Amino acid sequence: MLYPKKYGVNPLFPQATDFNVITKDVSTGYGVLARRSFEAGELIAVITGEVVPDILQHTLQICEGKHLLDQYFTGYLLHACSPNISVDMHSMTVTALKNIPANTFLTMDYAQTEEVLYKQFPCSCGSENCRGWITGSLEMPAGALQIFAEVPELN
Ligand SMILES: [Zn+2]
Repeated sequence: MLYPKKYGVNPLFPQATDFNVITKDVSTGYGVLARRSFEAGELIAVITGEVVPDILQHTLQICEGKHLLDQYFTGYLLHACSPNISVDMHSMTVTALKNIPANTFLTMDYAQTEEVLYKQFPCSCGSENCRGWITGSLEMPAGALQIFAEVPELN
């Protein structure tokens, strides 16, 4: 099991035999690699962690003012604009959206769970519908806010 014993025992928690949290590359940092294949629609894992009131670098939003800090699994899921997993913060489950071959990094869309990101960032996921600049679902890109700020007021 990837989780420490303090989180309890659940056979559906992410297992070390199924996943590896490893460095993808220097610029990306850590990611979660599937060690076996998963089929589209398959339940990948039940997740848990500590509930904290603030957005931190590795938290996922449960609801307004509640964020899950899971530094063993979900905190290291990478972003892609055409993700291969879906993360449901109500049922606390991770489900495969596509067939995921072994040795593939799990990717979620951060805007699925986050209204506001800890830090917006440029995306190079390579998918056809890549948004290019990743924000939370309720945020405008930092650049866009700047443009609005520069629009002169009409008299
Ligand atoms: Zn992208």
